[in-house]
Amino acid sequence: MDIISHGLWGGITLGRENKKSFWTSFIFGIAPDFLAFAPFFASVFLGFAEFPKFSTEPPIPDGIPAYVHNVYSFTHSLIIFAVVFGLIVFANKFLSPPSLKLRRTPWEMSAWGLHILFDIPTHSNAFFPTPFLWPYSSAHIDGIPWAHPAIFIPNIAILIILYLYFFAYKKRETNHF
Ligand SMILES: [Zn+2]
Repeated sequence: MDIISHGLWGGITLGRENKKSFWTSFIFGIAPDFLAFAPFFASVFLGFAEFPKFSTEPPIPDGIPAYVHNVYSFTHSLIIFAVVFGLIVFANKFLSPPSLKLRRTPWEMSAWGLHILFDIPTHSNAFFPTPFLWPYSSAHIDGIPWAHPAIFIPNIAILIILYLYFFAYKKRETNHF
């Protein structure tokens, strides 16, 4: 899935409570890709690295440095997500001082897990298949790339419908009070 769709899916599923919750979910939704690719694109922009050949479809991942693949594996593992989320929930409940304690479970973080679930069937072997069981297994699915119209168009259509419904619903609610 493209990075903006990931953010929008996170926001609409986990961040409907208020603006802060929305943007937190949005950020957790984009984080797995942002953390993997932003340092690399920044280094290309600053002239420290060469831009890879993205002219082919799907793009050839060979020009992308190993560290991007390593961070990508880390951020696209359901195991890593579950461990980090579990540790944060545990630390918040039992270890954090009252001044730092969150009032509730930070469900917005699950936008990270949702990102991985969406990526599993929408990446093919040719370009960053999702290593969702990393580091225990290299299992992955040879899916349909998210840029394929069969994925891309329904994805955008469903997002538009959900957001229109959400804003219409919110407007009705505020008119009501
Ligand atoms: Zn991703």
